[in-house]
Amino acid sequence: MSEHKTAVYPGSFDPITYGHLDVLRRGLGIFNKVVVAVACNKKKPYLFNQSVRSKLISRVLKEDKEIDDSRVEVIDLNGLLIKYVESINARVIIRGLRAVSDFEYEIQLATTNRMLNSDIETIFMMTAEKYSFLSSTIVKEISRLGGDVSSMVPQAIALELAKIYSKGEKNETLM
Ligand code: ADP
Repeated sequence: MSEHKTAVYPGSFDPITYGHLDVLRRGLGIFNKVVVAVACNKKKPYLFNQSVRSKLISRVLKEDKEIDDSRVEVIDLNGLLIKYVESINARVIIRGLRAVSDFEYEIQLATTNRMLNSDIETIFMMTAEKYSFLSSTIVKEISRLGGDVSSMVPQAIALELAKIYSKGEKNETLM
């Protein structure tokens, strides 16, 4: 069925990490097209604003040799995810799973989305083990404290983080 060929991968991506990219690559192994939907939740203290997060993803995808960026679309998600998924006639939402700690939140999200539209499925993909500890929050914290994040995020992202934190903007609340 043609509508199964597109999946939507929503998230904050603040910023995108190798863990996100690993899930995206795996998603492209199953679906013809994956839409990366960059969320904006007014209550979350993002480091990068929504349009910057989207632009960084697009830039990283162009440089990533393992990902066919012609099959990826990056959009700014405004409003309810399920409405966006319906609007493009997609049937699948992809989420990544790392540790058991992700499970409770993810099950709540997936159940809520199923209540809103029971025809849309959430599928969970496990990242490669080496990325299973990785989160955008951890990456920001390490970068803020001057650590090397080159094994966790693409170089373009590491540079953007370094730019911010070298300016001394260290007042972000992470925990
Ligand atoms: P959100 O604020 O929606 O949780 P994130 O950008 O933190 O946004 O994560 C988006 C999705 O990617 C979530 O399903 C999350 O569990 C998953 N994810 C984040 N980091 C990783 C990782 N290292 N490996 C696998 N999945 C991940």
